[in-house]
Amino acid sequence: MTNFACRPKFGRLFFMDNNVFNPEHQQKHISNKIVSGLERISEVFKILLWEKAKLVGLSPIQIQILIFVANHKQELCNVSHLAKEFNVTKPTISDAIKTLDKKQLILKDYSSSDSRSYSIHLSQLGKQLASKIYDFATPLKHQVDKFNQSELEAMFKTLSELIYKLNQKGILTVQRTCFGCKFYQKNDTSDYCNLLEKELLNKDLRLDCPEYIERM
Ligand code: SF4
Repeated sequence: MTNFACRPKFGRLFFMDNNVFNPEHQQKHISNKIVSGLERISEVFKILLWEKAKLVGLSPIQIQILIFVANHKQELCNVSHLAKEFNVTKPTISDAIKTLDKKQLILKDYSSSDSRSYSIHLSQLGKQLASKIYDFATPLKHQVDKFNQSELEAMFKTLSELIYKLNQKGILTVQRTCFGCKFYQKNDTSDYCNLLEKELLNKDLRLDCPEYIERM
């Protein structure tokens, strides 16, 4: 019996036509093209991370951990949080930490109340290496810098709202944007931070705020 869903049409399959990665379907709505474009951009991070990884002899996740630990408070630098942050399993993070530890790039701190868990921070060697890998995303930054200020502000506001909405839907487990923060207040036409006690212009909204506290 013929399976109509799988009958080829112009070299492709019927049942696959209605998706954002189909070039013809993309033409039907700009949101299709945006999703497809975001998928392309996600490839940029993979490429740039791998290039840096080969250069310094670490894996991409090990590089991400080093950069994250270098830039965030210690209470976020534990296996559970890192697994959520990078959407991988705890054993994957534990393995990466084991390697970083063997290479003497990190130090473990067991001083929390739970003696089985630990947080990590960078050793002197880790700090030196981190200073060489921070720039992995610079080729992307150079291209972003070519947009004018109003384009950048509009892009940033859309991006931060999208991140917040994906978090609300449970797709993105971690976000630290103003929109999900307990100090954030939406006024009629403006955004306000009750901690900093100031209006937040588009350019002031934060994507990864050190003062962020999740709104319950
Ligand atoms: S504390 Fe930070 S994340 Fe929260 S509203 Fe203020 S600027 Fe935004």
